[in-house]
Amino acid sequence: MQFAGAAGQVTGSRTVLEHASTRAYVDCGMYQGPRYISDRNYLPFAERADTIQAVFLTHAHVDHCGLLPLLVKRGFRGKIFCTKPTADLLEIVLPDAAGILKEDFKDLSKKFKRKHSIESPLYDTLDVEQTLKQVIPIAFGEEVTCGPFKTEYFRAGHILGAAGILVTTEKKNGESIQIYFSGDVGPSHPILHPKKENPPKADYYVLESTYGDRNHTKENPEEIIVEAVSRILHRKGMLIIPAFSIGRTQLILYLLYKMQEKKMIPELPIYLDSPMALRVTELYEMYKSEVNIPSKDFGFFAFLNSRRVTKVYHAEESKRLVETPGPGIIVSASGMCSGGRILFHLRSRIEDPRNMILFTGYQAEETLGRDILEGHARVSILGREYVVRASVAAIQSLSAHADFHDLLGYAGHFNYQLKKVFLNHGLDGPRQHLAKAIHEKYHFPVEIPSYLDTYYL
Ligand SMILES: [Zn+2]
Repeated sequence: MQFAGAAGQVTGSRTVLEHASTRAYVDCGMYQGPRYISDRNYLPFAERADTIQAVFLTHAHVDHCGLLPLLVKRGFRGKIFCTKPTADLLEIVLPDAAGILKEDFKDLSKKFKRKHSIESPLYDTLDVEQTLKQVIPIAFGEEVTCGPFKTEYFRAGHILGAAGILVTTEKKNGESIQIYFSGDVGPSHPILHPKKENPPKADYYVLESTYGDRNHTKENPEEIIVEAVSRILHRKGMLIIPAFSIGRTQLILYLLYKMQEKKMIPELPIYLDSPMALRVTELYEMYKSEVNIPSKDFGFFAFLNSRRVTKVYHAEESKRLVETPGPGIIVSASGMCSGGRILFHLRSRIEDPRNMILFTGYQAEETLGRDILEGHARVSILGREYVVRASVAAIQSLSAHADFHDLLGYAGHFNYQLKKVFLNHGLDGPRQHLAKAIHEKYHFPVEIPSYLDTYYL
């Protein structure tokens, strides 16, 4: 087993499994973030792509699936096994990723005026089409055999379709060996999150550690929303909510629905303006049995399809919305304001003090979202400078990840006779903190692998 990504990082997830002349990847994610990190996407894979027989995919976040089309472009013709909701999400996420790469490439070309070594985008829509043909959707709990590897997918409670994967294989001496890959683990607060199962019995565990040294704040998102809505109502402004398309958008809409039902906020116009989020929201409805939502709240889906939510599909409608007077609430993407229609809303409304921008998730370095949240007086949007006059607020408690406390509790369900726990998908600080806590509490041997470290199990 080799850690070929997300070791000491939170993006670029990839682990190589090799046994009895069969090679498989668990995840094949894109590196995301500042250029010095995302440049790693252009490095060759250590293995020839046509020697990989299968990819076992945990979920449809780009940092876990985003390099699949590149693997295919370089010759991978094996199967990609993932859950049904993940397969549906891939059809939305991968074409979007190809679009972003195209823009990214244009940017690079402009900046370096052809003097760089990259000749084309990492991959294009044709590679994505071929990739989607290689996807095999499977059910949670279904056993799938691929060469010497038998796999079973368990609900991880992170985003729709997200799974932890149990890989079982046999050593030459006939001894069975089981490795459980947690993928990204969901938080313990369950509202509108996909359901979460306890990890199964295994010999080795590969556990994510994104929040290995932090607990989420316990603030009440409803209080922040009430405050924000009363502010823009009073001034007849717009509340602009940048939200990630998968999970966060649906959660925000659910909170707005519940709060309107409870008369905590009035029924003012809500606009959902993100083609990707619109399609993902349909999937949440389609797979509602996979999501933690009490049946008494199924009115949420009627709410989504009612006049109380204006779904903005076409670019023309979105342009009209830019001019629409408040009060109202615009939910749009991307969540970090690094692209998408949110930019047009910010451009037209950020200089007007009647408006408010409400962030709903982590804002990475070098993103517009981070600049606004940090209180920069001027920000650059689509190549022009704007003065920030709109108010700014943030809800910090809606993470789709388990925090330190959740991860420690999750490890409590591991097999007490396990041989080793490996921590990946985390920076070194969080990994060390979590490793120490797991070792002290459960006396499990814990390993912190470095990039390209290989283990013979
Ligand atoms: Zn994820």
